[in-house]
Amino acid sequence: ALMITDECINCDVCEPECPNDAISMGSEIYVIDPAKCTECVGHFDEPQCRQVCPVECIPNDPQYLETPDGLLAKYHALQAAK
Ligand code: SF4
Ligand code: SF4
Repeated sequence: ALMITDECINCDVCEPECPNDAISMGSEIYVIDPAKCTECVGHFDEPQCRQVCPVECIPNDPQYLETPDGLLAKYHALQAAK
């Protein structure tokens, strides 16, 4: 999963781009739900939020380092749950 750092300026452009609805407004800045973030695996070649963020504040979350296979499995699980 990716994460949003405190450099976030709450510009709001990433949230509608997420194919998994993983991004939402938190108490102070936008946050990513790691259970829903597939790093865009299954949907796009590149993480869409990172593509649009004007301040580049969306790194990989060191607490949720995942393999491509693991991310694809999460994608399938999320699709099945819809
Ligand atoms: Fe959503 Fe993709 Fe960003 Fe993860 S990487 S939060 S799935 S847009
Ligand atoms: Fe924050 Fe970047 Fe999302 Fe804008 S695009 S709300 S700065 S994480």
